[in-house]
Amino acid sequence: MRRLLTLFHPGSSLDVFRELMGAVAIVAGITHFCLILVFHFTGVRSLALVNIASVLLYVLTGLLLRNGHVRLSMGLMALEIIAHGVLAVQAIGWDSGFHFYIILIIPVLIVNSMLAPAGKTVLVVLTGLLYLLMDWRWRGAAPYMTASQTVVDVLYYFNLTCTLVILALLATIYYRLVTLAHARLQDLARTDPLTQLRNRRAAMEAAQREAARVARGAGQLAVLLGDVDHFKAINDTHGHETGDDALKAVAEVLRAGVRQVDHVARWGGEEFLILLPGTEVPEAMAVAERLRAGVQQLRVAGADGRPLTLAMTVGVSVLVAGDAFDQALARADRALYAGKQAGRNRVVLASSPET
Ligand code: GH3
Ligand code: MG
Ligand code: MG
Repeated sequence: MRRLLTLFHPGSSLDVFRELMGAVAIVAGITHFCLILVFHFTGVRSLALVNIASVLLYVLTGLLLRNGHVRLSMGLMALEIIAHGVLAVQAIGWDSGFHFYIILIIPVLIVNSMLAPAGKTVLVVLTGLLYLLMDWRWRGAAPYMTASQTVVDVLYYFNLTCTLVILALLATIYYRLVTLAHARLQDLARTDPLTQLRNRRAAMEAAQREAARVARGAGQLAVLLGDVDHFKAINDTHGHETGDDALKAVAEVLRAGVRQVDHVARWGGEEFLILLPGTEVPEAMAVAERLRAGVQQLRVAGADGRPLTLAMTVGVSVLVAGDAFDQALARADRALYAGKQAGRNRVVLASSPET
């Protein structure tokens, strides 16, 4: 399913409709391929040829979709479905069920993200009217070709089954795509765009989860609050862009310097929050020192081309059972402040919680 969804739009995409159309082209192409076989074995060779043309058309629409011509491919698909329906119903009769596919155009039109509501309404109504008109005109009409009742029955159930399967597939794919798009949006809402770290909101969520685990007796949670030293001076001297580069580089050091289970977030402008679950003071201090040293070793290209160095002060506190996260955070913040007062570029352990 994942491969199917990304076939026409590699990488991430919020364009649910385009991916849906890609899936429709594939499913319709396969359906028509089956129809070639059905017509071949039921002896209706001329319609087998028509279906070969249809398969080629779906290959073309697939290629058009890949190249971004969504409207054109959508129009071609709709025309193919209508033309195919009209021709087959006239040739083999209404009872062959080739008209069912036209009904499928309606949900596709409705989920179309490119049509304005007015255009969408008009097209949906026109499709519905066309279907009613076809029913009225051809339900009782004699077909051009004489096919046996068995052939007509086989076609009827084949077409009805295909329509039901396509309908279920469309709904499933649409649901999957909407769910994926929703997950991507949620991810975006929780990610800091500059550093790609968790943002403050996501950090608070992680903190609440981890604090709940501490309360359940899962061990201590170490809270590290790091703040880049004299960052304003970097901005003032080298410009905001260099400042941004520096923040990205610091974020990378922090991300690479912790375990998979740890949380690194951009807490504010040049302030980072790091949560280390199941970590006691000595280990937390060692991690904080390693991160501080990592930032100190960074070399970021300055505005004058010369590498500039960075430093970071870190406040460390530990959340124990019966303690509130806000208090542990406030202690880390006070330790950070003390570190700044003491000359920066250092790790300071907060006083123990008063429990
Ligand atoms: P200290 O050592 O006491 O922390 O000094 P500081 O200069 O780092 O602290 P201060 O709070 O005075 O300045 C922080 C600066 O960070 C000011 C603000 O413009 C800058 N900043 C915040 N967010 C961003 C950002 O996304 N990009 C850039 N380039 N700068 C930012
Ligand atoms: Mg700072
Ligand atoms: Mg700051």
